[in-house]
Amino acid sequence: MTQAEANIGVVGLAAMGASLSRNLARHGNTVAVFNRHYSRTETLMNEHGSEGRFVPAHTLQEFVASLTRPRTAIIMVKAGDPTDQMINDLADLMEAGDIIVDAGNSYFKDTIRREKAIRARGLHFVGCGVSGGEEGALLGPSMMPGGTDESWETLGPILESIAARAEGEPCVTHIGTDGAGHFVKMVHNGIEYADMQVIAESYDLMRRGLGLEPGRIADVFEEWNEGDLNSYLVQITAQVLHHVDARTGRPFIDIVKDQAGMKGTGTWTVQTALDLAVPVTGIGEAVFSRGLSASADLREEAAREGLAGPVQEGGLGDLASDPDRCKAFIEDIRKALYASKIVAYAQGFNEMEEGAREYGWNLDLGAIARIWRGGCIIRAKFLNRISDAYASGGEFGSLLFDPFFKQAIEEAQDSWRRVVTAATGAGIPIPVFASSLSYYDGLRSRRLPAALIQGQRDLFGAHTYGRVDESGAFHTLWAGDGSEIRQGD
Ligand code: NDP
Repeated sequence: MTQAEANIGVVGLAAMGASLSRNLARHGNTVAVFNRHYSRTETLMNEHGSEGRFVPAHTLQEFVASLTRPRTAIIMVKAGDPTDQMINDLADLMEAGDIIVDAGNSYFKDTIRREKAIRARGLHFVGCGVSGGEEGALLGPSMMPGGTDESWETLGPILESIAARAEGEPCVTHIGTDGAGHFVKMVHNGIEYADMQVIAESYDLMRRGLGLEPGRIADVFEEWNEGDLNSYLVQITAQVLHHVDARTGRPFIDIVKDQAGMKGTGTWTVQTALDLAVPVTGIGEAVFSRGLSASADLREEAAREGLAGPVQEGGLGDLASDPDRCKAFIEDIRKALYASKIVAYAQGFNEMEEGAREYGWNLDLGAIARIWRGGCIIRAKFLNRISDAYASGGEFGSLLFDPFFKQAIEEAQDSWRRVVTAATGAGIPIPVFASSLSYYDGLRSRRLPAALIQGQRDLFGAHTYGRVDESGAFHTLWAGDGSEIRQGD
C-alpha cells in the first residue's frame, strides 16, 4: 500500500506542471507527481529528481493515496475538457475536506461552475490564477487563488513558499471565493495587453515618426526603465529592440511578422467588461489592435487600394530633423505612455470593483496590486503607488482621483495632447494613447453629448429621457404636437 507522505500533489507534468513541481520540491514540500503518460514523470524524476522530495505515481489512485490529509492536488493539464475530466477523476478518488486546485488559465465562469459542483460533493475547489509563464512557475510566480477560507488555510503556506517575493512579501494572497482568482488573473492579462500596446505605440512614434533606429529606441526604453516607467515589460522591450537577427544581421524587430497573437484572456476581459458596463477602452483598443494586426490580408488590400493618408504621411517632418525638438518629443512620448498606462490600470481596477459587486466578492484591490509587483508580466514599481492609493482607505470611484495619480496626469497631460495631435496629423495609429485621453476627457466632462443620444432614442423608440430640472421619466410626442408627457418616476 502507498504511504501518504506528500503534502501537495501536481497532476500534469508538461512545461507548467513540471516547473511548478520543481519549485514546490525546492521549497521543502514533498510533492506527489502524476502525468497521464508516465514518460513525462520519468523525465522529471531523471532530470530533476534530486532537487527535492518527489513521490512519483503511475496511477491516479496511487497519486491520491500518496497525499496527506487534507489531500491537496494542483491540476496543470490542458485547459478545457481535459481539465474538467481530471477534476472529476480526482473528485471520485478524494474525500470530504480535500482540495482540488485548477492552476490553469480557466475562464472564471467555468471556475464558478466547477466550484459549485465540487462543493456539492463535500470537497474544496480552488481556481488559482498563475502568472509568470514557465519561468515564473519554476522561480516564483504571482498567484491569485480563489476558493474558501478553509482551503486557503492549507494552501496558503504552500503557495507562499513558492511565490515570487516583492520587497520581502510573497506575491500571493487569498483573492476571494469561487471564481475570484481566475477573474483577477483575467483582468491582469487584460491590463497586460494595454500595457504592451502603449509601449508598442511609443516605439512606432519613435520609429516611424522620428525615424530612429531600433538600437537607439532600445536605449530610450532603457533610460525610461530607470524612472516612473520601471517595469519588466519596458525592460524586455529594450532587450527585444537591441536584438539583432543572426541570420540576416538586421534588427530582429524588422524580421518579425507584424501580426500579434492572442490566447483569449484579453478578449474575456473586454467581454466581461461589456457585460458589467465598465469602460475598459485601453484594454479594448489593445485587443482590437491585435485583431487588426492579424488581419494581414485586409491591410494588404488597403495598401493596394491606396487609402489616402495625410500629406506628411508617417513622419513628423521638421520635428524629427531638429535634435532638440526630437529630444523634447521623446519626453512627450514618455509622459503620454505614463498617462495612458495610468488610465488603463484605473479602468482594469474599475472592472475588478464592478466584478466584485456583481459576483459577491470582497476584493482587496491594494493587496492585488501588491501581489502583482513580482513574478508576473506586468510587475512594476508603479504598482506600489496603486497599492498605496487603496491602502490610504480613500473611497474613490477611480484611481484617477487619487492625489498621486491626479498630479501625475496633470503633469503629463500637455505632452499627452501634443503626442496625440502629432500622431494623428502624421497618420500614425495610436489607439490606446488616443482612446485613453478621450476617456480622461469624457470623465472630466460635466456634460456629455449623451443628452442628444437620449433625444434621438426617445424620438425613434420612445425610450424616454430624464430632465435636468425634475426627476422622473419623460417622453416627447415627436410625431404629434411636440408636447411632453410624464412616463414614470
Ligand atoms: P499543456 O496545456 O500543453 O497540456 C499538456 C498536459 O496536459 C500534459 O501533461 C498532458 O498529458 C495533459 N493532458 C492533456 N490531455 C489530457 C487528458 N485528457 N487527461 C489527462 N491529462 C491530459 O501544458 P502546459 O504545461 O503548457 O499548460 C498547463 C496548463 O497551464 C494549461 O491549462 C495552460 O492553459 C496553463 N498555462 C498557464 C500559463 C501561465 O502563465 N499561467 C502559461 C502556460 C500555460 P500527456 O503528457 O499524457 O499528454
